[in-house]
Amino acid sequence: MQKTSIWSLLPSELEEALIELGEKRFRAKQLLNWIFQQNIIDFTQMSNISKSSIQTLNMHFTTELPLVDKISQSDDGTSKYLLKLKDDNYIEMVLIPADEKLTLCISSQVGCMRGCRFCSTSKLGLLRNLTVDEITGQVYLARQLTGSFRITNIVFMGMGEPLDNLENVIKAIRIIQSDKCFAFSPRRITVSTCGIIPGIKQLSETGLKVKLAVSLNSAIDEKRSEIMPINVKYPLSVLKPALQKFTKTSPFRITFEYVLIPGFNMDIKDQKALRKFTGDISSKINLIPWNPIPGLEWKKSSEKEVNNFMKMMYKLSAVPITLRNSRGQDINAACGMLAGKKQKSPPLPPIDGADYL
Ligand code: SF4
Repeated sequence: MQKTSIWSLLPSELEEALIELGEKRFRAKQLLNWIFQQNIIDFTQMSNISKSSIQTLNMHFTTELPLVDKISQSDDGTSKYLLKLKDDNYIEMVLIPADEKLTLCISSQVGCMRGCRFCSTSKLGLLRNLTVDEITGQVYLARQLTGSFRITNIVFMGMGEPLDNLENVIKAIRIIQSDKCFAFSPRRITVSTCGIIPGIKQLSETGLKVKLAVSLNSAIDEKRSEIMPINVKYPLSVLKPALQKFTKTSPFRITFEYVLIPGFNMDIKDQKALRKFTGDISSKINLIPWNPIPGLEWKKSSEKEVNNFMKMMYKLSAVPITLRNSRGQDINAACGMLAGKKQKSPPLPPIDGADYL
């Protein structure tokens, strides 16, 4: 019999499933308390649950998590986890400590079909979407690895385009936000997209409160299309109104991620275009110095180039600007560098106009 993963269920669904199996209504509450408050996931250790109920739980449910295959530790404190899934595919998850924060970066797909040139994951193509339990399972696993309540922020910036796996991502976020489960505040969860317009619209329509980050990297169509094939299908003139609409129903500003690539997107024309594009969107800009990856000719930006860009943008920009110093570069855990290896499945064919490189 196929067991249901506890990590795939909202509290109401767990309650319903248990009642159907002849259990009392309070059993779900007990179970969730053990799992999320006491950090016990072995049913046999749940001392206030009767032997016959434990048998039922063992027969119908599983609390299996992705397996940690390898841990890479960066000099700057960042940890990258290579996780093995049930079907022998691999994903990556990263923990990034900074000041008072501990940010968990999770994956939403095995690989990705969106083909962004600056991203290692794109080289894999899309192998498959992660299931709800594989997404929430990363969060529970990270809690186990770090001590239960230390993670302060969750970002969907690992492998995959979250809006290409929207249904599962939305359900996973509902579970992560649920008071009875992970109890994460919406302001501490960020979904990052390359700009999938129908997904942005759908996310907004669900009413789910979550922060949105958009990987922008150029506010000039020709340049953006050169490094992000999605821009051919959804150019800036389509992206902008979609984001303006999104902010009308969201309490949060949009974060624009802008990877600084010397000789490509760092001159005054780029800055003016960036100012023009972002100026009338409730947003902030996050500048990220480029992390070289094998096979690409771009060089890393020097400190001087980054500072000059920042200074000029401070003068020009109507929205706040921050510089994100990429973390975990020595272990390939920084932005754009995630690419789980040894995948079992072959890539799926492209859909929705996506192009592999
Ligand atoms: S940057 Fe994101 S959307 Fe683009 S290829 Fe990489 S994982 Fe996919």
